Amino acid sequence: MRTRFAPSPTGPLHLGHAYSALFAADLAARNGGDFLLRIEDIDRSRARPEWEAQIYDDLHWLGLDWPQPVMRQSDRLPAYRDALQQLWDLGLLYPCTCNRRDIAAALEAPQEGGAPVLGPDGLVYPGTCRPAPAPDGAMPADVPLRLNTARALSAPLSFTETGAGPKGETGQIALPHARMLQGIGDVVLARRDMGTSYHLSVVVDDAAQGITDVVRGQDLFEATAIHVLLQSLLGLAQPRYHHHALIRDETGKRLAKRDDARAIAAYRAEGLSPAQVRAMVGL
Ligand code: GLU
Ligand code: ZN
Repeated sequence: MRTRFAPSPTGPLHLGHAYSALFAADLAARNGGDFLLRIEDIDRSRARPEWEAQIYDDLHWLGLDWPQPVMRQSDRLPAYRDALQQLWDLGLLYPCTCNRRDIAAALEAPQEGGAPVLGPDGLVYPGTCRPAPAPDGAMPADVPLRLNTARALSAPLSFTETGAGPKGETGQIALPHARMLQGIGDVVLARRDMGTSYHLSVVVDDAAQGITDVVRGQDLFEATAIHVLLQSLLGLAQPRYHHHALIRDETGKRLAKRDDARAIAAYRAEGLSPAQVRAMVGL
């Protein structure tokens, strides 16, 4: 068994992160496995070295340790490029520079029919730029690329959930094609200025690190459908998934990463012990 914690260094770790990291490390330890850390810093405009340093510091304070060197996604762009190239060669990608406003406008057009659907990445893309035949020629660089999901769907898809989704989904989760088309659509796999996306990078890296069990918050449950589809297209092993409830504050409000008051560092500064933080998240 191999688990991981994969934070983005874009703000302080809060109690929800503490839960994910501790749960993943405990799960690996109980099974004689390994717990790995991965820094998800593909968003260069938001990632900061100070936050990365704080992540190492907070996790060590919580009593966690992990093998070195730590995988950092900013070092992995060639691997993401290779994965995109595979998908491009299969005729499954197309360039699209539509922004949020273009998408909202396209969805308002009367011929679209049906109410706009909110997917894991925002409004489900109406397919404005999707070409009828797959684009030929070389994969363009520095252009956002979307997945042609209708063309990508062929094999039946499912995954194993050992935790629970937001509606209590657990066990073997089927991903019907019709629901993937409506609820996910043509997601962006190469973002502007990034050359990749969260979805592509997380799938390529979980496979590269041999992760068997992905532990993360329920806010990523719907996105798992995209990850499972990408694993099948790229011929990568599929891990089990363990989604956990989001840690909420006393009023039931979801804790945001920006909610610095509940940062692990703030509890440390107040003099709480790691054991007390563990107890606060129910571990
Ligand atoms: N990097 C993501 C985040 O910090 C988590 C990715 C994952 O666990 O799949 O929200
Ligand atoms: Zn477009």
